[in-house]
Amino acid sequence: MEKRAEKKRIVLVPLPLQGHITPMMQLGQALNSKGFSITVFLGEFNRVSSSKHFPGFQFITIPEILPVAEVEAIGPVEFLIKLNKTSEANFKDCVSQMLIQQGNDIACIIYDDLMYFCGAAANEFKIPSIIFCTTSATHKVCNYVLSKLNAEKFLIDMEDPDLQNKVVENLHPVSFKDLPIGGFEPLERFLVLCREIITKRSACGAIINTVSCLESSSLTLLQQEFGIPVYPLGPLHITAKETSSLLEEDRSCIEWLNKQKPRSVIYISMGSIFDIETKEVLEMANGLCDSNQPFLWVIRPGSKPLPEEVSKMVSEKGFIVKWAPQNAHPAVGGFWSHCGWNSTLESIAEGVPMICRPFNGEQKLNALYIESVWRIGILLQGEVERGGVERAVKRLIMDEEGASMRERALVLKEKFNYSVRSGGSSYNALNELVNYLETEGK
Ligand code: UDP
Repeated sequence: MEKRAEKKRIVLVPLPLQGHITPMMQLGQALNSKGFSITVFLGEFNRVSSSKHFPGFQFITIPEILPVAEVEAIGPVEFLIKLNKTSEANFKDCVSQMLIQQGNDIACIIYDDLMYFCGAAANEFKIPSIIFCTTSATHKVCNYVLSKLNAEKFLIDMEDPDLQNKVVENLHPVSFKDLPIGGFEPLERFLVLCREIITKRSACGAIINTVSCLESSSLTLLQQEFGIPVYPLGPLHITAKETSSLLEEDRSCIEWLNKQKPRSVIYISMGSIFDIETKEVLEMANGLCDSNQPFLWVIRPGSKPLPEEVSKMVSEKGFIVKWAPQNAHPAVGGFWSHCGWNSTLESIAEGVPMICRPFNGEQKLNALYIESVWRIGILLQGEVERGGVERAVKRLIMDEEGASMRERALVLKEKFNYSVRSGGSSYNALNELVNYLETEGK
Protein backbone atom coordinates (compact mmCIF):
# COMPACT_ATOMS: atom_id res chain seq x y z
CA MET A 1 0.00 0.00 0.00
CA GLU A 2 1.22 3.51 -0.80
CA LYS A 3 2.76 5.27 2.18
CA ARG A 4 0.72 8.35 3.15
CA ALA A 5 2.33 11.40 4.69
CA GLU A 6 1.00 12.42 8.07
CA LYS A 7 -0.73 15.50 6.72
CA LYS A 8 2.36 17.65 6.67
CA ARG A 9 1.72 21.06 5.21
CA ILE A 10 3.10 22.41 1.96
CA VAL A 11 3.02 26.17 1.47
CA LEU A 12 2.62 27.22 -2.16
CA VAL A 13 3.44 30.71 -3.40
CA PRO A 14 2.52 31.24 -7.06
CA LEU A 15 3.35 34.31 -9.11
CA PRO A 16 0.02 36.17 -9.29
CA LEU A 17 -0.63 35.60 -12.98
CA GLN A 18 -2.98 33.03 -14.50
CA GLY A 19 -0.26 31.15 -16.40
CA HIS A 20 1.66 30.67 -13.14
CA ILE A 21 -1.26 30.13 -10.73
CA THR A 22 -2.73 27.35 -12.90
CA PRO A 23 0.25 24.94 -12.80
CA MET A 24 0.91 25.76 -9.13
CA MET A 25 -2.65 24.77 -8.24
CA GLN A 26 -2.19 21.60 -10.29
CA LEU A 27 0.97 20.84 -8.33
CA GLY A 28 -1.03 21.44 -5.13
CA GLN A 29 -3.59 18.87 -6.25
CA ALA A 30 -0.85 16.34 -7.03
CA LEU A 31 0.73 16.79 -3.57
CA ASN A 32 -2.66 16.83 -1.84
CA SER A 33 -3.43 13.46 -3.43
CA LYS A 34 -0.23 12.20 -1.79
CA GLY A 35 -1.55 13.21 1.62
CA PHE A 36 -0.12 16.70 2.16
CA SER A 37 -2.20 19.64 3.41
CA ILE A 38 -1.94 22.62 1.11
CA THR A 39 -1.80 26.31 1.98
CA VAL A 40 -1.73 28.77 -0.91
CA PHE A 41 -0.47 32.33 -0.45
CA LEU A 42 -1.92 34.76 -2.97
CA GLY A 43 -1.96 38.50 -3.45
CA GLU A 44 -5.10 40.40 -2.53
CA PHE A 45 -6.00 41.14 -6.13
CA ASN A 46 -5.42 37.68 -7.48
CA ARG A 47 -7.72 35.37 -5.63
CA VAL A 48 -8.49 32.15 -7.47
CA SER A 49 -12.18 32.64 -8.22
CA SER A 50 -12.74 28.90 -8.05
CA SER A 51 -11.07 28.41 -4.66
CA LYS A 52 -14.28 26.66 -3.65
CA HIS A 53 -13.16 23.87 -5.98
CA PHE A 54 -10.21 23.07 -3.79
CA PRO A 55 -11.72 21.58 -0.64
CA GLY A 56 -9.13 21.20 2.06
CA PHE A 57 -6.86 23.87 0.59
CA GLN A 58 -6.23 26.84 2.83
CA PHE A 59 -5.92 30.23 1.09
CA ILE A 60 -4.03 33.06 2.77
CA THR A 61 -3.83 36.56 1.36
CA ILE A 62 -0.49 38.37 1.47
CA PRO A 63 -1.59 41.94 2.24
CA GLU A 64 -0.60 44.84 0.01
CA ILE A 65 1.16 42.70 -2.54
CA LEU A 66 1.57 44.61 -5.78
CA PRO A 67 -1.63 44.62 -7.89
CA VAL A 68 -1.07 42.74 -11.10
CA ALA A 69 -2.40 45.72 -13.09
CA GLU A 70 0.93 47.43 -12.31
CA VAL A 71 2.52 45.25 -15.00
CA GLU A 72 0.90 47.49 -17.59
CA ALA A 73 2.22 50.64 -15.96
CA ILE A 74 5.84 49.67 -15.27
CA GLY A 75 6.47 46.62 -17.48
CA PRO A 76 7.14 43.03 -16.41
CA VAL A 77 10.79 43.40 -15.35
CA GLU A 78 10.28 46.35 -12.96
CA PHE A 79 7.07 44.71 -11.76
CA LEU A 80 8.92 41.57 -10.72
CA ILE A 81 11.79 43.42 -9.08
CA LYS A 82 9.33 45.64 -7.16
CA LEU A 83 7.07 42.74 -6.27
CA ASN A 84 9.99 40.90 -4.68
CA LYS A 85 11.14 43.99 -2.77
CA THR A 86 7.69 44.88 -1.42
CA SER A 87 6.57 41.39 -0.51
CA GLU A 88 9.40 40.04 1.63
CA ALA A 89 8.38 41.57 4.98
CA ASN A 90 4.67 40.88 4.50
CA PHE A 91 5.32 37.30 3.59
CA LYS A 92 7.53 36.76 6.64
CA ASP A 93 4.72 38.17 8.83
CA CYS A 94 2.19 35.82 7.22
CA VAL A 95 4.40 32.77 7.76
CA SER A 96 5.16 33.82 11.33
CA GLN A 97 1.40 34.19 12.07
CA MET A 98 0.77 30.81 10.55
CA LEU A 99 3.46 29.16 12.67
CA ILE A 100 2.00 30.73 15.83
CA GLN A 101 -1.59 29.75 15.02
CA GLN A 102 -1.09 26.33 13.48
CA GLY A 103 2.22 25.13 14.90
CA ASN A 104 5.10 24.23 12.67
CA ASP A 105 3.76 21.48 10.47
CA ILE A 106 5.26 23.00 7.31
CA ALA A 107 7.30 20.45 5.38
CA CYS A 108 8.30 22.87 2.65
CA ILE A 109 7.65 26.22 1.00
CA ILE A 110 7.33 25.73 -2.74
CA TYR A 111 7.53 29.06 -4.51
CA ASP A 112 7.43 30.26 -8.07
CA ASP A 113 10.98 30.80 -9.26
CA LEU A 114 10.11 34.45 -9.88
CA MET A 115 8.85 34.99 -6.28
CA TYR A 116 12.39 34.77 -4.92
CA PHE A 117 11.55 36.87 -1.84
CA CYS A 118 10.22 33.61 -0.32
CA GLY A 119 13.78 32.29 0.05
CA ALA A 120 14.52 34.79 2.85
CA ALA A 121 11.46 33.72 4.90
CA ALA A 122 12.28 30.04 4.40
CA ASN A 123 15.82 30.69 5.67
CA GLU A 124 14.67 32.75 8.63
CA PHE A 125 12.19 30.13 9.83
CA LYS A 126 14.49 27.24 8.85
CA ILE A 127 11.86 25.73 6.60
CA PRO A 128 13.10 23.82 3.51
CA SER A 129 12.16 25.44 0.22
CA ILE A 130 11.85 24.29 -3.37
CA ILE A 131 11.42 26.44 -6.46
CA PHE A 132 8.76 25.81 -9.05
CA CYS A 133 9.46 26.74 -12.69
CA THR A 134 6.39 27.20 -14.87
CA THR A 135 8.32 27.67 -18.10
CA SER A 136 10.36 25.15 -20.09
CA ALA A 137 13.72 23.77 -18.93
CA THR A 138 15.26 25.26 -22.08
CA HIS A 139 13.96 28.69 -21.09
CA LYS A 140 15.53 28.33 -17.66
CA VAL A 141 18.87 27.32 -19.20
CA CYS A 142 18.69 30.39 -21.46
CA ASN A 143 18.17 32.58 -18.39
CA TYR A 144 21.38 31.16 -16.96
CA VAL A 145 23.19 32.01 -20.20
CA LEU A 146 21.74 35.53 -20.04
CA SER A 147 22.65 36.02 -16.39
CA LYS A 148 26.31 35.60 -17.34
CA LEU A 149 26.25 38.22 -20.11
CA ASN A 150 27.30 41.82 -20.00
CA ALA A 151 24.28 43.71 -21.36
CA GLU A 152 26.18 46.52 -23.06
CA LYS A 153 28.67 44.22 -24.77
CA PHE A 154 25.93 41.79 -25.79
CA LEU A 155 23.90 44.54 -27.47
CA ILE A 156 26.94 45.69 -29.45
CA ASP A 157 27.96 42.13 -30.36
CA MET A 158 24.43 41.35 -31.50
CA GLU A 159 24.83 43.77 -34.36
CA ASP A 160 27.09 41.14 -35.88
CA PRO A 161 24.91 38.74 -37.91
CA ASP A 162 27.44 35.94 -37.33
CA LEU A 163 26.88 36.10 -33.59
CA GLN A 164 23.12 36.39 -34.02
CA ASN A 165 23.13 33.07 -35.84
CA LYS A 166 25.75 31.38 -33.68
CA VAL A 167 24.28 28.43 -31.80
CA VAL A 168 24.42 28.78 -28.00
CA GLU A 169 26.76 26.11 -26.63
CA ASN A 170 24.96 22.78 -26.04
CA LEU A 171 21.60 24.36 -26.89
CA HIS A 172 21.09 23.55 -30.56
CA PRO A 173 18.97 24.92 -32.31
CA VAL A 174 18.91 28.00 -30.06
CA SER A 175 21.12 30.74 -31.48
CA PHE A 176 22.01 34.02 -29.77
CA LYS A 177 19.19 35.89 -31.51
CA ASP A 178 16.73 33.38 -29.99
CA LEU A 179 17.73 34.11 -26.40
CA PRO A 180 14.44 35.08 -24.74
CA ILE A 181 14.83 38.80 -24.05
CA GLY A 182 12.02 40.26 -26.18
CA GLY A 183 9.26 41.80 -24.04
CA PHE A 184 11.61 42.13 -21.04
CA GLU A 185 13.38 45.36 -21.91
CA PRO A 186 15.59 47.10 -21.00
CA LEU A 187 18.16 44.33 -21.19
CA GLU A 188 20.30 45.70 -18.31
CA ARG A 189 17.36 45.46 -15.91
CA PHE A 190 16.31 42.05 -17.20
CA LEU A 191 19.81 40.72 -16.57
CA VAL A 192 19.65 42.18 -13.03
CA LEU A 193 16.43 40.21 -12.54
CA CYS A 194 17.97 36.99 -13.94
CA ARG A 195 20.89 37.36 -11.52
CA GLU A 196 18.64 38.13 -8.54
CA ILE A 197 16.56 35.03 -9.22
CA ILE A 198 19.73 32.94 -9.11
CA THR A 199 21.61 34.62 -6.25
CA LYS A 200 18.64 34.95 -3.88
CA ARG A 201 17.71 31.32 -4.32
CA SER A 202 18.19 29.10 -1.30
CA ALA A 203 16.10 26.16 -2.43
CA CYS A 204 17.06 22.53 -2.06
CA GLY A 205 15.26 21.38 -5.20
CA ALA A 206 13.59 22.59 -8.39
CA ILE A 207 10.29 21.39 -9.81
CA ILE A 208 9.77 21.91 -13.55
CA ASN A 209 6.45 21.55 -15.31
CA THR A 210 7.95 19.67 -18.23
CA VAL A 211 8.35 16.13 -19.47
CA SER A 212 11.79 14.62 -19.89
CA CYS A 213 10.95 13.24 -23.37
CA LEU A 214 10.53 16.84 -24.61
CA GLU A 215 13.75 18.40 -23.41
CA SER A 216 16.07 15.83 -21.91
CA SER A 217 19.34 17.58 -22.88
CA SER A 218 18.13 20.94 -21.47
CA LEU A 219 17.15 19.15 -18.27
CA THR A 220 20.67 17.73 -17.99
CA LEU A 221 22.15 21.22 -18.48
CA LEU A 222 19.74 22.69 -15.96
CA GLN A 223 20.62 20.05 -13.41
CA GLN A 224 24.30 21.07 -13.80
CA GLU A 225 23.53 24.78 -13.45
CA PHE A 226 21.13 24.43 -10.50
CA GLY A 227 23.31 21.94 -8.62
CA ILE A 228 20.23 20.74 -6.73
CA PRO A 229 17.79 17.91 -7.58
CA VAL A 230 15.50 18.76 -10.49
CA TYR A 231 12.05 17.16 -10.64
CA PRO A 232 10.51 17.25 -14.16
CA LEU A 233 7.01 16.12 -13.24
CA GLY A 234 4.83 17.63 -15.94
CA PRO A 235 2.52 18.02 -17.65
CA LEU A 236 0.73 18.70 -14.39
CA HIS A 237 -2.62 19.39 -16.01
CA ILE A 238 -3.08 15.76 -17.14
CA THR A 239 -3.68 14.49 -13.62
CA ALA A 240 -5.27 17.63 -12.09
CA LYS A 241 -9.01 17.36 -11.50
CA GLU A 242 -9.93 21.01 -11.04
CA THR A 243 -9.14 24.12 -13.05
CA SER A 244 -7.99 27.26 -11.29
CA SER A 245 -9.23 29.97 -13.58
CA LEU A 246 -9.16 33.56 -12.43
CA LEU A 247 -11.79 34.15 -15.12
CA GLU A 248 -15.23 32.57 -15.29
CA GLU A 249 -15.31 29.77 -17.86
CA ASP A 250 -17.83 30.23 -20.64
CA ARG A 251 -19.21 26.78 -21.53
CA SER A 252 -21.48 28.02 -24.31
CA CYS A 253 -18.99 26.83 -26.93
CA ILE A 254 -19.34 23.14 -26.05
CA GLU A 255 -22.69 22.78 -27.79
CA TRP A 256 -21.22 24.49 -30.90
CA LEU A 257 -18.12 22.27 -30.80
CA ASN A 258 -20.30 19.17 -30.50
CA LYS A 259 -21.79 20.03 -33.91
CA GLN A 260 -18.42 20.30 -35.69
CA LYS A 261 -16.59 17.49 -37.49
CA PRO A 262 -13.74 15.78 -35.59
CA ARG A 263 -10.39 17.59 -35.90
CA SER A 264 -11.87 20.37 -38.06
CA VAL A 265 -11.86 23.40 -35.72
CA ILE A 266 -9.03 25.91 -35.26
CA TYR A 267 -8.98 26.97 -31.61
CA ILE A 268 -7.52 30.46 -31.16
CA SER A 269 -6.22 31.64 -27.82
CA MET A 270 -3.48 34.07 -26.93
CA GLY A 271 -3.44 33.14 -23.26
CA SER A 272 -4.31 35.34 -20.33
CA ILE A 273 -2.19 38.47 -20.91
CA PHE A 274 -1.47 39.34 -24.51
CA ASP A 275 -3.67 41.17 -26.98
CA ILE A 276 -3.55 41.16 -30.80
CA GLU A 277 -3.36 44.50 -32.64
CA THR A 278 -6.57 45.44 -34.45
CA LYS A 279 -4.81 45.41 -37.85
CA GLU A 280 -3.70 41.81 -37.28
CA VAL A 281 -7.14 40.82 -35.97
CA LEU A 282 -8.65 42.01 -39.27
CA GLU A 283 -6.21 39.93 -41.34
CA MET A 284 -6.70 36.88 -39.11
CA ALA A 285 -10.49 37.13 -39.28
CA ASN A 286 -10.48 37.43 -43.07
CA GLY A 287 -7.96 34.63 -43.54
CA LEU A 288 -9.85 32.32 -41.19
CA CYS A 289 -13.16 33.01 -42.96
CA ASP A 290 -11.53 32.50 -46.39
CA SER A 291 -10.15 29.13 -45.26
CA ASN A 292 -13.69 27.86 -44.72
CA GLN A 293 -12.62 25.97 -41.61
CA PRO A 294 -14.70 26.47 -38.47
CA PHE A 295 -12.91 28.26 -35.64
CA LEU A 296 -13.34 28.98 -31.95
CA TRP A 297 -11.82 32.29 -30.91
CA VAL A 298 -11.17 33.41 -27.33
CA ILE A 299 -11.65 37.16 -26.88
CA ARG A 300 -11.02 37.80 -23.18
CA PRO A 301 -13.05 40.39 -21.26
CA GLY A 302 -10.97 43.54 -21.12
CA SER A 303 -9.06 42.81 -24.33
CA LYS A 304 -9.63 44.85 -27.49
CA PRO A 305 -13.13 44.03 -28.81
CA LEU A 306 -13.45 42.87 -32.41
CA PRO A 307 -14.51 45.67 -34.79
CA GLU A 308 -18.24 45.36 -35.50
CA GLU A 309 -17.95 44.26 -39.14
CA VAL A 310 -15.38 41.60 -38.14
CA SER A 311 -17.53 40.39 -35.29
CA LYS A 312 -20.46 39.85 -37.68
CA MET A 313 -18.32 38.02 -40.26
CA VAL A 314 -16.63 35.89 -37.61
CA SER A 315 -19.91 34.91 -35.94
CA GLU A 316 -21.15 33.43 -39.21
CA LYS A 317 -18.23 31.03 -39.67
CA GLY A 318 -16.82 30.71 -36.20
CA PHE A 319 -17.68 31.04 -32.54
CA ILE A 320 -16.43 33.68 -30.13
CA VAL A 321 -16.00 32.84 -26.48
CA LYS A 322 -14.86 35.00 -23.55
CA TRP A 323 -12.81 32.32 -21.79
CA ALA A 324 -12.98 28.70 -22.91
CA PRO A 325 -13.12 25.75 -20.52
CA GLN A 326 -9.75 24.02 -20.36
CA ASN A 327 -11.11 20.62 -21.31
CA ALA A 328 -10.04 19.29 -24.68
CA HIS A 329 -12.65 18.63 -27.38
CA PRO A 330 -12.33 16.11 -30.24
CA ALA A 331 -13.55 18.68 -32.79
CA VAL A 332 -10.37 20.74 -32.34
CA GLY A 333 -7.91 20.03 -35.17
CA GLY A 334 -5.43 22.86 -34.71
CA PHE A 335 -4.44 25.40 -32.08
CA TRP A 336 -3.58 28.98 -33.02
CA SER A 337 -1.54 30.01 -30.03
CA HIS A 338 0.86 32.57 -28.60
CA CYS A 339 2.83 29.52 -27.39
CA GLY A 340 2.74 30.18 -23.65
CA TRP A 341 4.24 27.14 -21.93
CA ASN A 342 0.92 25.92 -20.46
CA SER A 343 -0.79 26.23 -23.84
CA THR A 344 2.10 24.38 -25.48
CA LEU A 345 1.96 21.48 -23.02
CA GLU A 346 -1.84 21.32 -23.25
CA SER A 347 -1.77 21.21 -27.04
CA ILE A 348 0.85 18.45 -27.13
CA ALA A 349 -1.06 16.50 -24.48
CA GLU A 350 -4.04 16.46 -26.87
CA GLY A 351 -1.96 15.61 -29.94
CA VAL A 352 -3.08 18.86 -31.60
CA PRO A 353 -0.65 20.61 -34.03
CA MET A 354 -0.24 24.36 -33.75
CA ILE A 355 -0.05 27.66 -35.59
CA CYS A 356 2.46 29.69 -33.61
CA ARG A 357 2.15 33.43 -33.22
CA PRO A 358 4.37 34.28 -30.25
CA PHE A 359 4.63 37.76 -28.72
CA ASN A 360 7.64 37.70 -26.40
CA GLY A 361 11.03 36.01 -26.19
CA GLU A 362 9.97 33.04 -24.08
CA GLN A 363 7.05 32.26 -26.38
CA LYS A 364 9.33 32.62 -29.42
CA LEU A 365 11.66 30.05 -27.89
CA ASN A 366 8.73 27.66 -27.38
CA ALA A 367 7.64 28.30 -30.98
CA LEU A 368 11.15 27.48 -32.22
CA TYR A 369 10.95 24.09 -30.52
CA ILE A 370 7.38 23.51 -31.73
CA GLU A 371 8.34 24.18 -35.34
CA SER A 372 11.96 22.98 -35.60
CA VAL A 373 12.55 20.40 -32.86
CA TRP A 374 9.26 18.62 -32.24
CA ARG A 375 8.00 19.60 -35.74
CA ILE A 376 4.39 19.89 -34.69
CA GLY A 377 3.55 23.40 -35.80
CA ILE A 378 3.83 26.28 -38.24
CA LEU A 379 5.45 29.54 -37.16
CA LEU A 380 3.94 32.75 -38.54
CA GLN A 381 6.59 35.45 -38.64
CA GLY A 382 6.54 39.09 -39.66
CA GLU A 383 3.38 40.86 -40.64
CA VAL A 384 0.34 38.63 -40.84
CA GLU A 385 -1.83 38.97 -43.93
CA ARG A 386 -5.05 37.17 -44.79
CA GLY A 387 -3.56 35.05 -47.61
CA GLY A 388 -0.88 33.74 -45.24
CA VAL A 389 -3.47 32.95 -42.59
CA GLU A 390 -5.64 31.03 -45.04
CA ARG A 391 -2.62 29.04 -46.29
CA ALA A 392 -1.43 28.24 -42.76
CA VAL A 393 -4.88 26.95 -41.76
CA LYS A 394 -5.13 24.80 -44.88
CA ARG A 395 -1.60 23.44 -44.44
CA LEU A 396 -2.41 22.47 -40.87
CA ILE A 397 -5.89 21.02 -41.28
CA MET A 398 -6.03 19.73 -44.86
CA ASP A 399 -2.50 19.06 -46.16
CA GLU A 400 -0.17 16.06 -45.78
CA GLU A 401 2.21 18.37 -43.97
CA GLY A 402 -0.37 19.03 -41.24
CA ALA A 403 -1.21 15.32 -41.06
CA SER A 404 2.49 14.54 -40.39
CA MET A 405 2.59 17.20 -37.68
CA ARG A 406 -0.50 15.68 -36.10
CA GLU A 407 1.10 12.22 -36.20
CA ARG A 408 4.19 13.52 -34.41
CA ALA A 409 2.02 15.38 -31.89
CA LEU A 410 0.10 12.15 -31.25
CA VAL A 411 3.36 10.28 -30.59
CA LEU A 412 4.28 12.93 -28.02
CA LYS A 413 0.78 12.68 -26.54
CA GLU A 414 1.37 8.97 -25.99
CA LYS A 415 4.74 9.69 -24.38
CA PHE A 416 3.08 12.26 -22.11
CA ASN A 417 0.48 9.72 -21.05
CA TYR A 418 3.17 7.15 -20.43
CA SER A 419 5.24 9.61 -18.38
CA VAL A 420 2.50 10.08 -15.77
CA ARG A 421 1.67 6.39 -15.47
CA SER A 422 3.35 4.01 -13.01
CA GLY A 423 7.05 3.77 -13.93
CA GLY A 424 6.95 6.82 -16.23
CA SER A 425 9.46 9.67 -15.86
CA SER A 426 7.06 12.26 -14.39
CA TYR A 427 5.42 9.67 -12.14
CA ASN A 428 8.86 8.73 -10.78
CA ALA A 429 9.90 12.38 -10.39
CA LEU A 430 6.75 13.10 -8.36
CA ASN A 431 7.43 10.11 -6.12
CA GLU A 432 11.04 11.23 -5.60
CA LEU A 433 9.78 14.67 -4.63
CA VAL A 434 7.22 13.20 -2.22
CA ASN A 435 9.92 11.01 -0.74
CA TYR A 436 12.09 14.07 -0.20
CA LEU A 437 9.23 16.02 1.39
CA GLU A 438 8.38 13.14 3.72
CA THR A 439 11.91 12.40 4.86
CA GLU A 440 13.92 15.64 4.58
CA GLY A 441 11.15 18.22 4.89
CA LYS A 442 10.95 18.75 8.66
N1 UDP B 1 -6.89 29.30 -20.96
C1 UDP B 1 -8.17 28.91 -20.62
N2 UDP B 1 -9.21 29.40 -21.36
C2 UDP B 1 -9.02 30.26 -22.40
C3 UDP B 1 -7.70 30.64 -22.75
C4 UDP B 1 -6.66 30.13 -22.02
O1 UDP B 1 -8.38 28.15 -19.68
O2 UDP B 1 -10.02 30.67 -23.02
C5 UDP B 1 -5.76 28.78 -20.17
C6 UDP B 1 -4.91 27.83 -20.97
O3 UDP B 1 -5.53 26.56 -20.98
C7 UDP B 1 -3.58 27.90 -20.21
C8 UDP B 1 -3.56 29.32 -19.67
O4 UDP B 1 -4.88 29.84 -19.83
O5 UDP B 1 -3.58 26.98 -19.14
C9 UDP B 1 -2.60 30.22 -20.42
O6 UDP B 1 -1.30 29.97 -19.97
P1 UDP B 1 -0.04 30.12 -20.91
O7 UDP B 1 1.16 29.74 -20.12
O8 UDP B 1 -0.22 29.37 -22.17
O9 UDP B 1 -0.03 31.65 -21.31
P2 UDP B 1 -0.06 33.03 -20.47
O10 UDP B 1 -1.47 33.28 -20.11
O11 UDP B 1 0.82 32.84 -19.27
O12 UDP B 1 0.47 34.02 -21.45
